[in-house]
Amino acid sequence: MKRVGIVGGGQLARMLAMAGRRLGIRCEVLDPAERPCAASVARHLRGDFDDLQALDHLVEDCSVATFDFENVAVGPLAHLSQRMPVRPPPKALAVAQDRLEEKRFISELNIPVADFLAIDRREDLDAAVDRLGLPCLIKTRRFGYDGKGQWKLRERADCDAVWNALQGTPAIAEAWVPFKRELSLIVVRDARADHRLYPLTENHHVEGILCYSLAPAAADDALRLEAERLAFRLADALDYVGVLAIELFEMDGHLMVNEIAPRVHNSGHWTIEGAHCSQFENHLRAVTDLPLGDASARGYTLMLNVVGQWPQREALLACAGVNIHDYEKSAREGRKIGHLTVCADSVEELALRSRALLTAAGRPALWENLQPRIKALQGQR
Ligand code: AMP
Repeated sequence: MKRVGIVGGGQLARMLAMAGRRLGIRCEVLDPAERPCAASVARHLRGDFDDLQALDHLVEDCSVATFDFENVAVGPLAHLSQRMPVRPPPKALAVAQDRLEEKRFISELNIPVADFLAIDRREDLDAAVDRLGLPCLIKTRRFGYDGKGQWKLRERADCDAVWNALQGTPAIAEAWVPFKRELSLIVVRDARADHRLYPLTENHHVEGILCYSLAPAAADDALRLEAERLAFRLADALDYVGVLAIELFEMDGHLMVNEIAPRVHNSGHWTIEGAHCSQFENHLRAVTDLPLGDASARGYTLMLNVVGQWPQREALLACAGVNIHDYEKSAREGRKIGHLTVCADSVEELALRSRALLTAAGRPALWENLQPRIKALQGQR
């Protein structure tokens, strides 16, 4: 039986391990928490992510290593990669965990990104306002997630407050992108450079946290082709193996990359029920050199994140076609503790099911935001 070592034991590792069980692949997770949420479905090795002794255990137990979040230090993974395959390659992690490196890397491939510049000194903030205009965004180069470590500069007078908040942390300034919508794209690539691409997904964020994903997103052939080209170019340039998620802005009918995540991604959770082969299964297939699975959608899917606390289960379970994914994490404000999906064969059915789900989840007001997006799917396939 194949065994995959996962650095990190959160919900992404948990869903990888669950997909692995069906394929006869066992997962072992390395995580410092006493009981990370992947521990109920995978063997748990307790240790820090950079604990070389714990990493040695992974080498003994597993044939390949992967990771479930991008803030793992590159050094220990590079060390690990001398003794066993680490997939995706640590280089992809190094690029994705530093926003400046990431923007440089992507723009060198002639793929559009928001105009940006490095912020190392107080005067760089003034230079950013001069060059990028207002508003613009200041983001820490590292360790930002779910909108954390970000500030919007609305006027020049905000520079001092942002500089104080940064406390010397290296950052970048990004031009404000007046995007029409946020999309994401998930590509899986194996060591033979075979690829599969999931359909474009439309995402809605609330306070920097993904609220829902709708898949497939309404898109014409030109937009799909643009997405496909940039995904393949990025994955090839990184010599990538595994699932790569690409967050995009759509503006004026074209795409711009916001960021990449070298791992399975929240905007791909819909693929568990909504695609023929999920992102989790395809990631495992890629890293263990098994043939890739079909990434096409079965129909239409809405994925709604459960953030903070669970809505009443009975009401959720009364919704037609609902799938509940409980990560067994304790409730805490702003924490992703589960997700819900509804799938449908037609746009009309998706509309009915989604509306019922939003009501049961205590989020009926979201319908106003979702309805036009579902409507845009009419006449598409
Ligand atoms: P990030 O952590 O970079 O993914 O940013 C979190 C969210 O902030 C994104 O999903 C967007 O909604 C918004 N955002 C990030 N960068 C920009 C930008 N350059 N212009 C406008 N909105 C942005």
